Amino acid sequence: MSEQASLKPARKPESRIALVRRARRINRELAELYPYAHPELDFENPFQLLVATVLSAQTTDLRVNQTTPALFAAYPTPEDLAAAEPERLEELIRPTGFFRAKAKSLLGLSTALRDRYDGEVPGRLEDLVTLPGVGRKTANVVLGNAFGVPGITVDTHFGRLSRRFGWTTSEDPEKVEQEVGTLFPKSEWTMLSHRVVFHGRRTCHSRKPACGACPIAPLCPSYGEGETDPEKAKKLLKYELGGAPGQRLQPPSDYPGDPAPALGAPAATAPMTQGSE
Ligand code: SF4
Repeated sequence: MSEQASLKPARKPESRIALVRRARRINRELAELYPYAHPELDFENPFQLLVATVLSAQTTDLRVNQTTPALFAAYPTPEDLAAAEPERLEELIRPTGFFRAKAKSLLGLSTALRDRYDGEVPGRLEDLVTLPGVGRKTANVVLGNAFGVPGITVDTHFGRLSRRFGWTTSEDPEKVEQEVGTLFPKSEWTMLSHRVVFHGRRTCHSRKPACGACPIAPLCPSYGEGETDPEKAKKLLKYELGGAPGQRLQPPSDYPGDPAPALGAPAATAPMTQGSE
């Protein structure tokens, strides 16, 4: 057999209209699969979300959620945080990693909020990105979830799944944001981001995607990149789909899984009630 003949048959190139249709169908399927998709950081106001998002770099949302209750109790406002003693702040955020750099960002951004924005988090992208430690991704998280301004948040999950879905080939988060944005109405952007991230965390993992247990497999050109045996794939599912608590200590009331344990509390190991998959 020639080398050519042993290659997989090339897929028919997808037209733009077919791509848009397929992308929107994936979004609808994900909406049915995760009707309760939500931001996985605990927060009560824009300032808390901004701080939590800065802390979430290079760590899990769970770790941030376990860290912020003590942090927000000690420094409830930007003014309080701007006046924090750096060593005490570093100690409080140490569990999130890179705590010296993150403490510096938090001191810088809370000082800027105090001095330039009357202690309020601004609701515009161009202002948010001028704050120390705040990039486009963080700004979009805050805008979408604390101000209701539609935004696509390209984190590691969103980028990976967008490429697996064939929505983009780019590795550059800003390009991914632009290209995926053209496939969906603006009003869908924020919830689309949550749904895709939920799917990435629960099913379509970076190294071992659970293709055999993935309800959107028929719409996914990357089916087969992970485990296709249904039973084996089921074992790869995580969080509420796999019987483990989610990332939030205070999930919304419609979340079907268990709240995550507080820092230092024993991890909940009991599987969740039947029917949660
Ligand atoms: S079929 Fe596989 S690669 Fe595609 S979305 Fe599902 S888990 Fe991910």
